[in-house]
Amino acid sequence: MISFIISVIVKNVLGEKPKFLQGGVSTMAVCQICNKGAHFGIKVSHSHRRSNKMWKSNVKSVKVNVNGNNKKMYVCTSCLRSGKVERA
Ligand SMILES: [Zn+2]
Repeated sequence: MISFIISVIVKNVLGEKPKFLQGGVSTMAVCQICNKGAHFGIKVSHSHRRSNKMWKSNVKSVKVNVNGNNKKMYVCTSCLRSGKVERA
Protein backbone atom coordinates (compact mmCIF):
# COMPACT_ATOMS: atom_id res chain seq x y z
CA MET A 1 0.00 0.00 0.00
CA ILE A 2 2.78 2.42 0.95
CA SER A 3 4.71 1.64 -2.21
CA PHE A 4 1.53 2.30 -4.21
CA ILE A 5 1.16 5.77 -2.61
CA ILE A 6 4.84 6.51 -3.25
CA SER A 7 4.47 5.54 -6.92
CA VAL A 8 1.52 7.95 -7.22
CA ILE A 9 3.60 10.74 -5.67
CA VAL A 10 6.55 9.98 -7.98
CA LYS A 11 4.23 10.06 -10.99
CA ASN A 12 2.93 13.47 -9.85
CA VAL A 13 6.49 14.77 -9.49
CA LEU A 14 7.26 13.63 -13.03
CA GLY A 15 4.21 15.49 -14.30
CA GLU A 16 2.34 12.36 -15.32
CA LYS A 17 -1.11 12.36 -13.70
CA PRO A 18 -2.59 8.95 -12.82
CA LYS A 19 -5.80 8.21 -14.73
CA PHE A 20 -8.04 7.87 -11.65
CA LEU A 21 -7.00 11.35 -10.41
CA GLN A 22 -8.10 13.26 -13.51
CA GLY A 23 -11.06 14.88 -11.81
CA GLY A 24 -12.42 11.45 -10.99
CA VAL A 25 -14.18 11.41 -14.36
CA SER A 26 -13.49 8.79 -16.99
CA THR A 27 -13.13 9.97 -20.58
CA MET A 28 -16.23 7.89 -21.44
CA ALA A 29 -18.55 10.57 -20.05
CA VAL A 30 -17.36 13.41 -22.34
CA CYS A 31 -19.16 14.32 -25.57
CA GLN A 32 -16.75 14.58 -28.53
CA ILE A 33 -18.94 17.25 -30.22
CA CYS A 34 -19.71 19.79 -27.48
CA ASN A 35 -17.17 18.65 -24.80
CA LYS A 36 -19.99 18.25 -22.30
CA GLY A 37 -18.72 16.23 -19.35
CA ALA A 38 -19.62 15.53 -15.78
CA HIS A 39 -20.87 18.33 -13.57
CA PHE A 40 -20.90 18.64 -9.82
CA GLY A 41 -23.29 19.80 -7.14
CA ILE A 42 -24.69 19.01 -3.71
CA LYS A 43 -27.20 16.30 -2.88
CA VAL A 44 -29.59 17.52 -0.15
CA SER A 45 -31.57 14.88 1.72
CA HIS A 46 -34.97 15.37 3.34
CA SER A 47 -33.24 15.97 6.69
CA HIS A 48 -31.07 18.53 4.87
CA ARG A 49 -27.82 16.56 5.16
CA ARG A 50 -25.64 17.74 2.29
CA SER A 51 -23.12 15.64 0.39
CA ASN A 52 -21.24 16.20 -2.85
CA LYS A 53 -22.70 14.68 -6.00
CA MET A 54 -21.55 14.14 -9.57
CA TRP A 55 -23.85 13.96 -12.60
CA LYS A 56 -22.51 12.24 -15.69
CA SER A 57 -23.67 13.43 -19.08
CA ASN A 58 -25.77 11.00 -21.14
CA VAL A 59 -23.12 10.00 -23.69
CA LYS A 60 -23.73 7.26 -26.26
CA SER A 61 -21.28 5.45 -28.51
CA VAL A 62 -22.65 5.98 -32.04
CA LYS A 63 -21.45 5.50 -35.60
CA VAL A 64 -21.45 8.87 -37.36
CA ASN A 65 -20.74 10.02 -40.91
CA VAL A 66 -17.76 12.42 -41.01
CA ASN A 67 -16.83 13.63 -44.54
CA GLY A 68 -18.20 10.43 -46.09
CA ASN A 69 -16.36 8.16 -43.66
CA ASN A 70 -18.09 6.18 -40.93
CA LYS A 71 -16.55 6.78 -37.54
CA LYS A 72 -17.39 5.66 -34.00
CA MET A 73 -17.74 8.59 -31.61
CA TYR A 74 -19.00 9.32 -28.11
CA VAL A 75 -21.85 11.82 -28.54
CA CYS A 76 -24.26 13.16 -25.90
CA THR A 77 -27.97 12.68 -26.44
CA SER A 78 -28.67 16.44 -26.71
CA CYS A 79 -26.26 16.64 -29.70
CA LEU A 80 -27.95 13.57 -31.22
CA ARG A 81 -31.42 15.10 -30.80
CA SER A 82 -30.43 18.50 -32.22
CA GLY A 83 -28.91 16.86 -35.31
CA LYS A 84 -25.33 18.05 -34.80
CA VAL A 85 -24.08 14.70 -36.11
CA GLU A 86 -25.19 12.61 -39.07
CA ARG A 87 -25.67 8.99 -38.07
CA ALA A 88 -24.16 6.36 -40.34
ZN1 LIG B 1 -22.76 16.98 -27.05
